[in-house]
Amino acid sequence: MSRKKSKISADIFDAVSAPTRIQTLRLLATRGPLTYSEIMEMLNFEPTKDAGKFVYHLKNLINVGLVSFDKSIKKYKITDLGLMVVNFSQDLEEYALKKAGKMLVRTSRYTIEEFDRSRIAESLMEEAGLPQDLANKISSEVEERLLKLPIRYLTAPLIREFVNAILVESGLEDYRHKLTRLGMPVHDVKKTVEEASQKHFNVNFIRSKAGRRVITEYMLLNNLPREVADAHLSGQIHIHNPGFWVLTPSTIYHDLRMLFSGTLKTQHVNPYVTPVSPPKNLVDAVMLTSLLTKFFEGEISEEQKLDYFNVFLAPFVVKRTDEEVKRILKNFLVGVNPIGFENLGGVSLSVEVTVPQHLKKVVAVKPEETGKEKNCYEDYEEEARKVLSLLLDAFLELSNKKPLFNPRIILNFRPDCLTGKYDEILLKAHKLASAYGTLFIANLTRESETVSSYMANGEKVEANWSKDWEIDTLRVGNLNKVSLNLPRVAYEAKKDDEKLFEGLDKTLELAVRALEIKSMEIGERMRQGLLPNLSSQIKNESYFRLNHSFGTISILGLNEAVKSHLGYEVYEDLMPQHFAIKLLEHLTNRVESFSKKLGLRLSVSQISDVEASQKLAEYDVEKYGWSTVYVQGGKEHPYYTFITPIPDDLEISLDEKFRIEEKFHPLFNGGHFTQIQLEDEVSAEKLLKQTKRICEEYGIEFFAYSHILSYCGYCQKTFRGYLKKCPECGLADITIYGREATNYLPLVWWTHKGRKSLLKKA
Ligand SMILES: [Zn+2]
Repeated sequence: MSRKKSKISADIFDAVSAPTRIQTLRLLATRGPLTYSEIMEMLNFEPTKDAGKFVYHLKNLINVGLVSFDKSIKKYKITDLGLMVVNFSQDLEEYALKKAGKMLVRTSRYTIEEFDRSRIAESLMEEAGLPQDLANKISSEVEERLLKLPIRYLTAPLIREFVNAILVESGLEDYRHKLTRLGMPVHDVKKTVEEASQKHFNVNFIRSKAGRRVITEYMLLNNLPREVADAHLSGQIHIHNPGFWVLTPSTIYHDLRMLFSGTLKTQHVNPYVTPVSPPKNLVDAVMLTSLLTKFFEGEISEEQKLDYFNVFLAPFVVKRTDEEVKRILKNFLVGVNPIGFENLGGVSLSVEVTVPQHLKKVVAVKPEETGKEKNCYEDYEEEARKVLSLLLDAFLELSNKKPLFNPRIILNFRPDCLTGKYDEILLKAHKLASAYGTLFIANLTRESETVSSYMANGEKVEANWSKDWEIDTLRVGNLNKVSLNLPRVAYEAKKDDEKLFEGLDKTLELAVRALEIKSMEIGERMRQGLLPNLSSQIKNESYFRLNHSFGTISILGLNEAVKSHLGYEVYEDLMPQHFAIKLLEHLTNRVESFSKKLGLRLSVSQISDVEASQKLAEYDVEKYGWSTVYVQGGKEHPYYTFITPIPDDLEISLDEKFRIEEKFHPLFNGGHFTQIQLEDEVSAEKLLKQTKRICEEYGIEFFAYSHILSYCGYCQKTFRGYLKKCPECGLADITIYGREATNYLPLVWWTHKGRKSLLKKA
């Protein structure tokens, strides 16, 4: 060997002859490239005091080519030669330790550490909460097993696998769960990226879906009792929005008066956000309302409701021209449009044709400019109608280019609407229904329904808790929904009535336990300050009245359960209808007694969701086989009915449909929805007539007319029906919209395969 060559090695060994330099190399190998001060900081050097010393070390490494300086990014990085030295030094340490009979662990920081079983014991105590003696026992066992292994390196994940296996073998499964790492397989992340792209979502969707996945797993492993988690996983119950379980409530019913009076101070705790002052005029009021929905978007997983929208806004339009008001409302609609879409939620706003009785004598929140002569909301009836009329104009004009699906307008249809006196404005509202189907109608003509409030997702809230409408229906919300798999209860009962009711009780109890925990979780998040807007203080209580907010029990597959138990579907005969009603009355009574016992507000809803309707049917097919299970959608796309007890593809007259559905609406204080599918073009006049008839003659309480819509982006025109090509320009680039559950969605977003195939057949 030449002297010159040996000189190279000697120089290199010389350069790494101090531990600091080896550490520097390792740091650059794992974390580099890094700036000078970053390296100093990570190696715990004092920036000023040690600067000279450190420069010396670094120069040594650079001089022999182990480290280089990248001028373009002004950072130091390790060279290939440097990497060789790092690996070599690792081998040396390893050899030395092995010689001494020690087990070695290769860490992610390019270091070799001696295996230390006390570390395992420590993490078992800290992460899984194992008692010390048990932790010591397990860690000894781990060491013993590892010593027998014929492998070269131990890694931290490998050790974890052994710990997990030994915990399970020792019957310590619950501790094992606590050590679970939550996350997503690489493949699923890739799929999510593709899904986002197909559905025209942005990157936020990917991030939020990944996050929801972790939160769901956390809920199942750590938050719910084993029995409840198992019930969800096996499909006995279905927990809605699991990705938000420990984080947020599902819905909120806002009280705009709190915002307009300056009492609700949104975001006031956030040190970075500037406070807003009470609105001085219509522009302020509308902008604040739009901001409100934006601020609460992160604290509500589904839908926000703006109740009495046009009534509360009425005092702000005094002295404003129509043109002005319409323009401001148009901006509002555009601003609120994207709120909530990522979770397929949104903003519902209910509108009134006259000022409802219970608001008439309520003192109005008004801007200073309005003057003193008008005091209560009944003094603003004209203005309220003006807001409604211009809101509808703005909505129609915007929809003209492209149908507007959010916010969603809910027309509160009160006895005044039946008089004929307000037909002009009602007709305008029904133009929306006739052209796009984007009008929801709440039938509040019955006295018992006066103060009930609906959301576009079919949710209902009544004044049935403290009996004070303001406290029960405003500043409250749905905490979460849990669906009961009714067909499974029926399969298990094997046509035995007693077993059926018993099974129903057991399933219900699991759902109620889940909701109890949810309520506690939200309380905890509010106390922790993590839901700052919900917990904004108003007269010593939170804006969001948690104690008056409710958990909802939803039913899934009522029709299929009855069919399995009696042999008839609900629509086929009176007998199955009576039985279904008996079942629901039993359920409602049980829910009420739970509610009283626990002091937890609970409601019962007929509306479950798309995901549950397919998932639970598929699980049951797997569990019981086709000979036992009864589903919609055939073998190809099995699902359970999830909105009404009447299957979607049933050929049945509207009158028959209403006659059946009206029997069920009053049984659900938590929500229901009747969809009226329109095949042909129906004029606004005809629809208004129809609406009046439904409200007068039937007990249908919440409904909407639906179309299938085809939209051509090139012509900016919307057509009725399922079109493959634009009839005007001939392009095939058509977006199809339809109501998947309660809301319109582009067909590409639909997850309900059964409904999708029905739609395509039609
Ligand atoms: Zn076209």
